[in-house]
Amino acid sequence: MKTVYLDNNATTQVAPEVVEEMLPYFHELYGNPSSMHTFGGQVAKKLADAREKVAAVIGATSDEIIFTSCGTESDNTAILSALAVTPEKRHVVTSRVEHPAVKVLCERLAEKECRVTAVGVDAGGNLDMNQYKASLSPDTAMVSLMWANNETGVIFPVEEAALLAREKGILFHTDAVQAVGKIPIDMKKNTIDMLSFSGHKLHAPKGIGVLYVRRGTRFSPYLIGGHQEKGRRGGTENTPSIVSLGKACELATQNIEQESRRVRNLRDRLEREILSRIPNSSVNGGKAPRLPNTTNISFEFVEGESILLLMDEYGICASSGSACTSGSLQPSHVLRAMGVPYTMAHGSVRFSLSIYNKDADIDLVIDKLPPIIARLREMSPYWTDEKSCRTSL
Ligand code: PLP
Repeated sequence: MKTVYLDNNATTQVAPEVVEEMLPYFHELYGNPSSMHTFGGQVAKKLADAREKVAAVIGATSDEIIFTSCGTESDNTAILSALAVTPEKRHVVTSRVEHPAVKVLCERLAEKECRVTAVGVDAGGNLDMNQYKASLSPDTAMVSLMWANNETGVIFPVEEAALLAREKGILFHTDAVQAVGKIPIDMKKNTIDMLSFSGHKLHAPKGIGVLYVRRGTRFSPYLIGGHQEKGRRGGTENTPSIVSLGKACELATQNIEQESRRVRNLRDRLEREILSRIPNSSVNGGKAPRLPNTTNISFEFVEGESILLLMDEYGICASSGSACTSGSLQPSHVLRAMGVPYTMAHGSVRFSLSIYNKDADIDLVIDKLPPIIARLREMSPYWTDEKSCRTSL
């Protein structure tokens, strides 16, 4: 059975060009880039090239790029660094819909040393800008707001938010793990101090992340020990993955406009057809500015997990809630923050596309999903009640 992979916000296929790029670094160019000898030195040069390519995907300069192990490490490092360099300030501003990489750390900080304000969102998933402005105080050390939401794809106005923080002398970090490679980002055009992203979301392998730190930003490392990354992140560089991320970023930079248009068209067709064929379905965050590849659709009176299991029988991979939280039957914190009613939030499915999806993938979902939902609803007492209620009106 062919796999129809529509779970690209969880992770992506490594591009064949990217695999090819990394292979020599296991058996030919395996030297340590910090070594004095020429053998290691040639790897150091390749690392520098990769750093340039990675910087280019967000319009940064290479000295502003720190390689980490993942998006989570980058997020943790940014937040803890901002708190370390401003010991006199103990307030953090974030949002209610952040990925656990930010959310859980902020909850931990709130238990101990900090006051944390989690700004809310409206029913469409948009950040409450009035609440955000009101939350910034003389005691605020840093703001951490995601660029694009992993569950709904809703894009926050982080550049505007960063400007407001800058005016008050507050450090601003954005978790751009879902945004980089999907929408154009140019760090020359904003005042964001720190930005995180992760290789495995843009067709590079798992286990490589990036923390962008704007030149001149005060910084305190999280991993200490070695002098690597100019003393900003200790640990021997993961050279195969760094080089492969360079290639993935190069591909993303070249193809972003054309590919986002194509992916958006596929996503829009999927969404249109599902909504027209399946009653009591709606898109969460559908009216907000969104990533081109993501749609989060609620089907009233069914369980998201049951939908996933039945789609899986046809090889269709999607997700309910974020990849890290699926497995628990709690409705997603993102949908709860948006005020999505429980009957809808429980039946939500996220489809997230990539450059490798084709029309045929969408055709299969459009064909298989309506009978799946109908079958599940036939088993739901709530749906039977709803139907009889509507017929008696
Ligand atoms: N931030 C967001 C928005 C994400 O979607 C993810 C992963 O799903 C992460 C952070 C964590 O990234 P990583 O898996 O590289 O640690």
